[in-house]
Amino acid sequence: MKDEFWTRGVLGLAKRMIIGVDIGGTTIKVALLDELGNIIAKTQIPTPVPEGEDAIIHQMAATIDQLMEEHGFSKEETYGIGIGVPGPVDIETGFVYEAVNLGLKDTALKAKTEALTGLPTYVENDANAAALGEMWCGAGRGTDNLIAVTLGTGIGGGIIIDGKIVHGVKGVGGEIGHVTVNPDGPLCNCGKKGCMERYGSATAIILGLEKAAMEGRSMYLAKQLAEKGSLTAKDAFDAAAEGDSAAQEVIDQAAFYTGFGLSHIANLLNPAKIVIGGGVSAAGDVLFKLIRKSFDTYTWKIAAESCEILPATLGNDAGVIGAGWLVKQAQVM
Ligand SMILES: [Zn+2]
Repeated sequence: MKDEFWTRGVLGLAKRMIIGVDIGGTTIKVALLDELGNIIAKTQIPTPVPEGEDAIIHQMAATIDQLMEEHGFSKEETYGIGIGVPGPVDIETGFVYEAVNLGLKDTALKAKTEALTGLPTYVENDANAAALGEMWCGAGRGTDNLIAVTLGTGIGGGIIIDGKIVHGVKGVGGEIGHVTVNPDGPLCNCGKKGCMERYGSATAIILGLEKAAMEGRSMYLAKQLAEKGSLTAKDAFDAAAEGDSAAQEVIDQAAFYTGFGLSHIANLLNPAKIVIGGGVSAAGDVLFKLIRKSFDTYTWKIAAESCEILPATLGNDAGVIGAGWLVKQAQVM
């Protein structure tokens, strides 16, 4: 059975498909995957957030139907649907406690999707889904003890121990962005002070740049801000490459606190890999070296030496692939 499965998969002759969905505040991404996590086809639609939860679920289901039809797959040839959503989830029941960006609260997403599509459905938090995607097909391949971190508008995270996501009792396990890295630090959206997210996210970096520009500490950034009206995290790295010391300071601080926050996770969990994605991670080596330096300073030597820190490789596809993994784990293996 297993041999047959792998052979069919490798030859690309898989007869049954997996559907991976990533519902974000802006778009709903839907992908048709084979049993190895290869994307056969994908599409996306705008998320109808103002129209409410039923519209979101109906339009998602319609998009799934359309994609399957376009590529000649029937429901009988589909294992099921995996969905990632931006908020805490009860994975047993597929119940979404809250997804602020989607306007969902206490939504029976699994039950409603199954009723509409007739396909078994599995729901997971989107950052956790991205972590599973990287484990299955990305930079995390080869280990089942890894941490995935997304440095984007905020900082998302997923913790996988022995192949399983750590959810905790209310689905907020793995919220790495809210690890406190400075008890006297700036206020975070979560209501606490000094969260890692307030230093390592794109939002935090941009705030640091704007402050430097407005306080007259960087002519370069002040000029950029005046010309463009706003700054991006990429501007920090461009300015630093030009020798701008204020931008370098912002980057140093972001990397220091990110590495410091990750050291706590590594000291607790001893992962084999920490996979870092999101817009900020595009800065590459410059950033990774600084994070590594801080991480090594605060991580117990054995844990530090046994942990690779790597860029994520799946980009925006990590979510749909990881959502597909939920189906594979439940239905295929
Ligand atoms: Zn926070």
